[in-house]
Amino acid sequence: MGLTSDLLHFLFPTQCVGCGEILVGGERQLCAQCLMDLPLTGFAPQAGNQAERQLKAMADIEAATSLMHFGRGEISQRVVHSIKYHGNSELALMMGRQLGIALQGSGRFGDVEVLVPVPLHAWRRLKRGYNQSRLLCEGIAQVFSCPVVGGAVRRARNTGSQTHKSPTERRENVAGAFSVVRPEAVAGRHVLLVDDVMTTGATLAACAGVLLAVEGVKVSVATLCVA
Ligand SMILES: [Zn+2]
Repeated sequence: MGLTSDLLHFLFPTQCVGCGEILVGGERQLCAQCLMDLPLTGFAPQAGNQAERQLKAMADIEAATSLMHFGRGEISQRVVHSIKYHGNSELALMMGRQLGIALQGSGRFGDVEVLVPVPLHAWRRLKRGYNQSRLLCEGIAQVFSCPVVGGAVRRARNTGSQTHKSPTERRENVAGAFSVVRPEAVAGRHVLLVDDVMTTGATLAACAGVLLAVEGVKVSVATLCVA
C-alpha cells in the first residue's frame, strides 16, 4: 500500500509548484491563488515593450513578447525550474497554452506561420531527454493554430550555461552557435521563435540572426519569462 501510494504521489503530484500547498478540486500544477499571482507582463499587445526593444537592438525582428516577469525566489522561477530541470511537461503545456492565448488575443502575432523552439545542443538534449522550449511550442500550438517545426535550427556548439556570464560574454559565447539545417522548413515564412527565459536576449538574437538569413523569413519572438 505504502509503495503504491508513494508511486501514485510521484506520478500524480498533488502539491502546487508555486507554493507547495496541496492542490484541490480541478487544480493542476498551480493552485488558484498562485495562478492569480503569476507576474504577467501584459506585453503581448504592446508594441515597443521592454523585451521587444531589447531584442530589436540586436536583431531585425518583427515583434516580441514574454508572458511573465522572472523573479528569483518567486512563482515564475519555480515554474521555470519545474519545466526546465524536472521535465514537468504538463506544466510546460499549460504555460504554453497561456502564452498562446496571450498571442492570440494580442492582435500583433496573427500572421505568424510556424513555431520554432530555440534548440538545445544535441548533447544537452540527450542528457535532459527533452527540450523545454519544444514543450512550450506544443502548448502554444494547442490554442494558436500553427505547426511546430523542430529540427530546422541546430545548436552547432555547446555554449554551456549563460548564468554566470556578463552581457558581452554572453553575446560572444553564442555568436556562431546556431545554424539552419532545414532552410526549406522555414523559407518564406513568418517564424515565431520560442524560448523559456530571455535574459540579455543574446541567445534569441543569435538564433533569430541565422533564421533571418534564410530567403523571405520574418522572425517574431515569444518567451515564457523575461528577466
Ligand atoms: Zn500555490
